[in-house]
Amino acid sequence: MDLHSVFCHNPACPARGQVGKGNIGVHSRTAGRYICHVCSKTFSVNKGTVFYRLRTAKDVVVIVVTLLAHGCPVQAIVAAFGLDERTVISWHERTGQHCEAVHRHLVEQPRDLGQVQGDEIRVKMQGGIVWMAMALHVRTRLWLGGVLSTGRDGELIAALVQKVRACALCRPLLLCVDGCSVYISAIRSVFREPVRLGQIGRPRLRPWDGLCIAQVVKQYACKRVIGIERRLVQGTANQIEALLQRTQGGGMINVAYIERLNATFRSHIAALVRRGRALARQATTLHHAMYLVGSVYNFCTDHRSLRLALYLPGNRRRWVPRTPAVAAGITDHRWTVEELLSFRVPLPRWSPAKRRGRLSKTAQALVAQWCS
Ligand SMILES: [Zn+2]
Repeated sequence: MDLHSVFCHNPACPARGQVGKGNIGVHSRTAGRYICHVCSKTFSVNKGTVFYRLRTAKDVVVIVVTLLAHGCPVQAIVAAFGLDERTVISWHERTGQHCEAVHRHLVEQPRDLGQVQGDEIRVKMQGGIVWMAMALHVRTRLWLGGVLSTGRDGELIAALVQKVRACALCRPLLLCVDGCSVYISAIRSVFREPVRLGQIGRPRLRPWDGLCIAQVVKQYACKRVIGIERRLVQGTANQIEALLQRTQGGGMINVAYIERLNATFRSHIAALVRRGRALARQATTLHHAMYLVGSVYNFCTDHRSLRLALYLPGNRRRWVPRTPAVAAGITDHRWTVEELLSFRVPLPRWSPAKRRGRLSKTAQALVAQWCS
């Protein structure tokens, strides 16, 4: 039992979510329970992980989730493992929610992105169509998240652009998107900062400096691409060239990286396979599947184009594989699926309940100890 990576899960505890503060002890080794010495509550070793309160062995859950994350249909797992279909579906949903929380905590953090590509996939569901919009950080191939909507409209694109904004620092940034017209207004309205002048009322919003927008519009005839038009919507040719040089080593404006990622998602989610028979019935199923596949892609899969050459004595060379999360500096090694499912997302810092008047002495002491 590792006391250095565990934190209290009690939402009412002042020490909640804090690691390495010495407040956690072992309550029972046989039952696998920790105790928090601040609030005296005990909790299971699996609290905060996908395995919490599951009756099936951890190894089986990990194998089933790995298969689901690589596009294995639920029916195949039911036939192979003798599990109930509802059990597999509930594990899928649970892992999707867990991976979304991990993604929010680790990936949706501001970083210097350089170039981001966005695109949408048309998904056929039982009784309708949904659109899945996703974004990719080109230099590290990090999947920045995705959103679903019934239409390829302003709502979908605005939600995607908000996701990109959550991952971006206010630095020179090139956004390469397809010809969908709502992108431009969505990007321009989301990438703005308030200018606070100390006056009453809503502050004026100023657009980000160094924001470039490029569109790649494909022309089709008889379902074949016959031409590609590249439009510089915002930013100068020099700015865009410098960003392309920094993020992909030169070349032209393109959306090839996100299109390749779309192909990975299509092959890794059974419901996304073209002309397949395993169509999804609900958009939430697709949402959970998207976060599971995206997180396994980010944290657990080495990317061939991200490998680094290590030069050894004797003119020998060794390739060091890297995952997108390693390339982005989020972690230092490739995670196993079990590590991903066991990651505990810390709770936000505790703060005393808001009330009128001064804090009591006890509350002041707790704030001084746990909120600094
Ligand atoms: Zn506690």
